[in-house]
Amino acid sequence: MAGKGNDSPAIGIGLGTTYSCVAVWKHNRIEIIPNDQGNRTTPSCVAFADKERLIGDGANNQQAMNPANTIFDAKRLIGRRFSDSKVQEDIKLWPFKVIKGNSDTPKIVVTYKGQKMEFLAQEISSMILGKMKESAEAYLGNDVKDAVITVPAYFNDSQRQATKEAGTIAGLNVIRMINEPTAAAIAYGLDNKSDIVGKINVLVFDLGGGTFDVSLMTIEEGGIFEVKAVAGDTHLGGEDFDNRMVDHCVLEFKRRWKKDLTGNQRALGRLRFACEKAKRILSCATHTLIELDSLHEGIDFSMKFTRAKFEGLNMDLFEMSIKTLETCLSDAKMKKSCIDQVILVGGSTRIPKVQHMLLEYFNGRELCKSVNPDEAVAYGAAVLASKLSGNTEKSVQDVVLRDVTPLSLGIEAHGDIFNVVIPRNTPIPTSKAKVYSTIKDNQTTLAIPVYQGERSRSKDNHFLGKFSISGIPPAPKCVSTVMIGIEIDANGILTVTASVISTGKMKKLTITNAIGRLSKEKIEKMVHDAEKYKFEDQEFKKKAEAHNALEDCIYKMKNKIEERSVKESVHHEILQVMKKAIDKTNKWLKDNQAAPFAELHSKKVHLEFVCKLLF
Ligand code: ADP
Ligand code: MG
Repeated sequence: MAGKGNDSPAIGIGLGTTYSCVAVWKHNRIEIIPNDQGNRTTPSCVAFADKERLIGDGANNQQAMNPANTIFDAKRLIGRRFSDSKVQEDIKLWPFKVIKGNSDTPKIVVTYKGQKMEFLAQEISSMILGKMKESAEAYLGNDVKDAVITVPAYFNDSQRQATKEAGTIAGLNVIRMINEPTAAAIAYGLDNKSDIVGKINVLVFDLGGGTFDVSLMTIEEGGIFEVKAVAGDTHLGGEDFDNRMVDHCVLEFKRRWKKDLTGNQRALGRLRFACEKAKRILSCATHTLIELDSLHEGIDFSMKFTRAKFEGLNMDLFEMSIKTLETCLSDAKMKKSCIDQVILVGGSTRIPKVQHMLLEYFNGRELCKSVNPDEAVAYGAAVLASKLSGNTEKSVQDVVLRDVTPLSLGIEAHGDIFNVVIPRNTPIPTSKAKVYSTIKDNQTTLAIPVYQGERSRSKDNHFLGKFSISGIPPAPKCVSTVMIGIEIDANGILTVTASVISTGKMKKLTITNAIGRLSKEKIEKMVHDAEKYKFEDQEFKKKAEAHNALEDCIYKMKNKIEERSVKESVHHEILQVMKKAIDKTNKWLKDNQAAPFAELHSKKVHLEFVCKLLF
């Protein structure tokens, strides 16, 4: 079993844009861990309110009422710069506020307990990871420390680094990060070992809540997984289908009642929530009813939705996913007949029409549905977590991963030219080095800007960081040389080194503020803050429970008095004393809504005591 002992098994977390999922190796198999609501996936959503912070289902449920302080899509922000054009586009769509922080880092602004606060995307993600950790701890009855976290295959170094930081802030020891399609393929491979003969080509079709990713992989007998090519659309998924349904309902409302819903944020939020539910139902039923009381200006709204209607509204989006799939295959120069297996990942692949279109595209080849689409990624991550923590089970130990770099890595050479050191699709871990020479006479320092991407002009690529090496012995230009090495570890995280060849002087790139990476101190502060918020959440819950318990006690005692005074002729004076005690407590509760737990609890004990004495 797990090498570190069964006390604290390592977990696998699928950290999704819209939903997250956590799994663990237990009882000789992978188990998906339900959250406190009994759900196997948890919305990647955090809400800040007047009195409390909510994470997961609780946050999602109140989104319509508190849109400005309900944060989702943190995964779209993580490791990106504020000025990134994708971030700018997303900001236009979000109901919450994002501002530019130091070094071009985006900051999310919320009002929490009446105070304005700013959070980094890492911190929001850490809250979601913390929630997943808590679910696992409750399920296992143990503390959980070690975790494998999933990231999209196309995530660059800063996005991976920032995700790792989110894990650290949540109090997790991130033992590895794994690409989502690889994790899904592991889940498939473990369940279908006998089908893997020699080397097979696998297509991972991941249509989730907000994003669509296609990955072409190979799985080799003996458990070797390799990602060969990735493609996708960062803005295509379940939320788009929900939006189409919402738009349709808004039109219908207008047609029926001549009233426009679009200005009513709360109504739109409620509608979106109902549409998402209806969409899920339409994956197994052919029709459903959307019913919302007093949706807008007191008007009740009810509407029948058929599966055919849903498909009609989204047909172009479904077709777009098939087009992207086609492009991925043609980029990889692979015929569709060479695909041995199609693995469905992401909640939206449960949509019958999507499955139908895929079946048709692959000429009736059976799709792999043996793994739950919204759990496959967490499942695979948990297999790896278990392997890394020493699970001796053969099928788990046999898993070998071979990931590739999704993007080329290099430095800016003379002028604005991007000079590649490690080309894309190089298997990782890897390390490569190149020699560069000085460009001026007597040049003693060399600046080294590091980029990631596929464009020939460095400006068009993703800037990772910059450092410089000094102490180059003065010499005519092109004489002195510096060796620049780039190393990528198994997590896809890189280290850059530079050394002056004649002196052996070496420098390591510590990417700091340049890409908004956090210092050790900052992370420590965030870990501390995360614990503080967690404590506050617990205190709030305790207080709310004590408040309810007192209210309940008052109510019960009141009923008891009424019952007794009707049934038996209890002495009038006794009843009066009790009534007085109850009324007094009731008034106190109304006047002291913010009372701390201890006071609420002692009031309840006191009231119970008085009533017990008298009955
Ligand atoms: P993520 O994209 O965050 O990784 P998931 O893969 O869990 O998340 O996908 C979430 C999306 O899947 C949501 O938009 C959700 O509405 C959708 N979804 C979940 N179950 C179903 C279903 N039965 N039918 C249709 N869509 C579904
Ligand atoms: Mg996903």
